[in-house]
This record gives sequence, structure tokens and C-alpha cells, in this order.
Amino acid sequence: MLQESSIRTDYPSLRGTRKLLIDGEWIEAATGATYPSINPATGVTIAYVAMGGEEDINRAVAAARRAFETGPWSTSTPYERQNLLLKFADLVDANFEELATLATIDMGAPISRQMGFRKRAIGLLRYYAAMAVSLHGETVPNSHGGDIFSYTLREPIGVVGAITPWNGPIPSTIWKLGPVLATGCTLVLKPAEEAPLVPLRLGELALEAGIPKGVFNIVTGSGTVAGARLVEHPEVDKIAFTGSHLTGQRIMQAAAPTMKRLTMELGGKSPNIVFADANLSKAIPGAAQAIFNNSGQICSAGSRLFVERSIYDQVVEGVAEFGRSLKMGNGLDSSTQIGPLVSTKQLERVCGFVESGVREGARLVSGGARVQEGELANGNFVAPTVFADLTSEMAIGQEEIFGPVLTVFPFDTIDEVVTLANSTVFGLGAGVWSSRLDTVHTMARRIKSGVIWANSYQLADPGVPFGGYKMSGFGRESGRQHVEEYTNVKSVWIAPSD
Ligand code: NAD
Repeated sequence: MLQESSIRTDYPSLRGTRKLLIDGEWIEAATGATYPSINPATGVTIAYVAMGGEEDINRAVAAARRAFETGPWSTSTPYERQNLLLKFADLVDANFEELATLATIDMGAPISRQMGFRKRAIGLLRYYAAMAVSLHGETVPNSHGGDIFSYTLREPIGVVGAITPWNGPIPSTIWKLGPVLATGCTLVLKPAEEAPLVPLRLGELALEAGIPKGVFNIVTGSGTVAGARLVEHPEVDKIAFTGSHLTGQRIMQAAAPTMKRLTMELGGKSPNIVFADANLSKAIPGAAQAIFNNSGQICSAGSRLFVERSIYDQVVEGVAEFGRSLKMGNGLDSSTQIGPLVSTKQLERVCGFVESGVREGARLVSGGARVQEGELANGNFVAPTVFADLTSEMAIGQEEIFGPVLTVFPFDTIDEVVTLANSTVFGLGAGVWSSRLDTVHTMARRIKSGVIWANSYQLADPGVPFGGYKMSGFGRESGRQHVEEYTNVKSVWIAPSD
């Protein structure tokens, strides 16, 4: 863990104007425009970032296409790509404190959380390095007789356009770049406006690792201009998107005319279910962390807590007390446990939901207010908030708030809680807290979501797939399936020539 006094903040990557990475060169946006990147803990501008537009996306896609079709990358072997990924992993490891500091200053989450990504980020890159040499086609028996042979080839899908959110810039970027490098695709990344500094630094490290020009391009800029052009561009073969379901829907429509491959990692309103036989000394802090970590800005946050009626009051008070005990502050302070929301826009959104909860008659147990005094008043700080006694139609119980706001509901039977848990358009994660194995198995089978955590929450591993059901999207990140989604399968038939 970093000590406060040892956190450097004088990195060149935190100053001046940050440029676009196109065809291995750092260049200004074609229009010369920039925008400020703001520290959400203080409201102070950190650096200026190039505001890429349509022309920049066109140049980046052309570079990615050239690298894919004719550059040295087009003939790279799996072993060369594996070595590059391993070298890149070592560089990311060696520079991790800088990456974590950038992420904290750019999007607010505590430095302890950002440093916690180290093992996962390096583990992911090494997993993709292993996949580079182990993903392959198959020989397939057929019914045409012994002399007719059939097999499949796994080929890189081509130019990938990746669009990422701001809530976890280190894992988000690595989740897009890793499978591209493993399979031999090329990438144009459009990172979130709010947190571009980590992806740009990863671009520098990728060049240092020797990744050929044009393989990894980064165009910072707005979603509705740069992002939209990337989605409609006819030379892009796949869009790998992570973000809200509303943007995901727009992207699906815009990608239809060019029939792009799509993967969609979208939002959630994940249920977290505590049975009366659970170990409450684990379940209560587990349920609180499931929503308050990263100030609730996690796609699979356990934002709807269902508690068996006999322990309802005890759990409601327990999670509220846990929230009150968290130390809010600037993420650069190593004792901070909960940082600010990423932007004033996000702050307004979260405060709007809190007001609507109060208006609709939910019981506000704790939190519910922006910090308006002291040194945190300049940042976007909202206290961990617990609402109880909701009805399931209330907006705060249905919509993804993406803030530190927990909604708690009582239940009496398994059938009732299964119905309640599934009564949302989303299906990303779910938690089940019980000491009975049969209860855990039943819930794992009946809850409609892509990930189930029992007596735990947010566990992750490079080899275990992550992704959604229903409006939480499709496609998986991590695991073999993730890398396969960056390939096409080609079938080859060979018959004798005579
Ligand atoms: P967002 O949908 O507003 O933006 C995501 C990205 O899409 C940004 O880079 C943005 O610039 C871009 N974008 C916006 N409009 C676009 C358009 N018309 N065309 C192309 N690109 C466009 O989401 P956000 O506020 O940045 O992130 C929060 C959301 O992301 C939440 O819903 C959260 O649940 C989701 N998320 C999902 C996962 C997951 O793995 N399932 C992980 C993290 C975040």
C-alpha cells in the first residue's frame, strides 16, 4: 500500500496538453481543439486533452486498417504477440504507481482501490499472452467420407473500435487492448471524456513495449462526435463497448448498416440477497461494500439489497452504520475509503435520485446529502446513502443510479425474492448470502444474471467470464470466450483433386 507521503504527483503524464495516438505518433486534434480534464475531488483542472473529432477517427481507422492488412503486425506470429504482451505487462507493472495516481486524480476513486487493480491488470495481460498461443481452430469430422477433410481457422476479426466508460480506466483499457493484441486485431480506442489520462499513458507504454505503429490508436473526444464516427465507420469490423444501456442501444442502431460485430458490457441494478441463516458478520460489511466501493460507480454494484424479514432491521442498521463509518476524502490520501463522484453531471444525477426517493416516500436511513462544508465542498462528494421500505415501482429501486445509494427491501420466501430480484430490465451481477448450499444453488440457477457471487461480492479473475443478461448486454470479458469474440471462425473443406 502506498503511504500518503510517498505518492508522487509530478508525472509528466499529469501536465500540459495530452495528444492523440495515431499511427504510432502523438498528434494534436485536426481542429486543434482541447478540453480540460478535471480532478473531481478538488474541481481543479489537471491537464488539457485533445478533442478528437471525425477527421481524427478517420485517420486512426485508416492507420489501424493499414497495420492490420499490410504492416508487420499482419504477419506477426502468436509467439511474437505473446512476447509483446508479456513485455507490456512488465512495463505496466513497473509503472503501476503512476497509472494508479493518474486514475485517482482523473476520476476520484481512492489510491488504495487503484493500487488494488495491480494484480488483476498484470494477471489479465499475462492471461491474454497465454491465449495468444493457445487459441486455435479445430479439425472437425464430417459425413462425406474418409478422403474429404474439414477444419476451422480462427482469424482475427480486423479493426476493433473500443469505447470505454470512466469508472475504472485501468481495467477497462486492458480489457479492450488485451484480446486485440492476443488475436492480431488492431484497435482504435475512444476513452471516456472524464478519464482519458490512464489510457493515454498505457498508449505510451505500449509503444515502449514495441507494439508496432497503427496497432493501438487512441482518439480522445466526445461520445457523440468521435464515438459516433467510430461506430458508423465502414472500415471498423467490431465495436467493443462498455457503458450505459442507453448509449449501447444507440450504438446498436448506428452499427446496423455496416453489420458490425458487437459486444456490449452495460449497466445493472444488481440484487444482493441476505437470508436469515447467513453469517451476518460477513454479509453486512459485504453488502455495504458491494454498493459503496468506488462510490457506487461500478456496473455490477449490489444496489438492491433484499433481506429476509426476521433480520431486516438489523441488516438495514448494519449497512447504514458501515456507510457512516467510511472515511470520505481526496483519493490521494491513503486513508480515504470513499472518494468523490466523477463529475458535477454525475453529482446532479445522484442527488436527483436521492430527491426522488424522498419524494416517492422511501425511508432515508442514512446519508442522502452532498458534502457542502470544509475542504470537500469543492469536490463532488455524496455521503453513503441507505433507503429502506421501498416499493419496487419507485425509480430509485429500478434505475441504475451509479452512485453510493443503496435501496433495501424485505422478503419472506425464496419464490418472492426470486421474483423481486428478477423484476428489473438488467441482469449483470447478483449476491446470495446464506450458509445453506441448497439455497445458494437454487438462487444461482433462478437469478437471471451473468454472474452470481455467494457469500462474497465482486470476485474476479482473468479466466472467469464477466458479462450480462438482458439489458446488461451480451458478450463476455475475461475468460476464453472474451478472446474468441475478437476472432472469426472460417471453415475449410478439402476434397481430393481427382
Ligand atoms: P456512457 O454510456 O455515457 O458513456 C460510455 C462511453 O460511450 C463514453 O466513452 C462516451 O463518450 C461514449 N459515447 C456516448 N455517446 C456515444 C455515442 N452516441 N456513440 C458512441 N459512443 C458514445 O457511460 P458512462 O457514464 O461513461 O459509464 C457508466 C455506465 O457504464 C454505467 O451504465 C455502467 O454500469 C456502465 N459500465 C458497465 C460495465 C460492464 O462491464 N458491464 C463496466 C463499467 C461501466
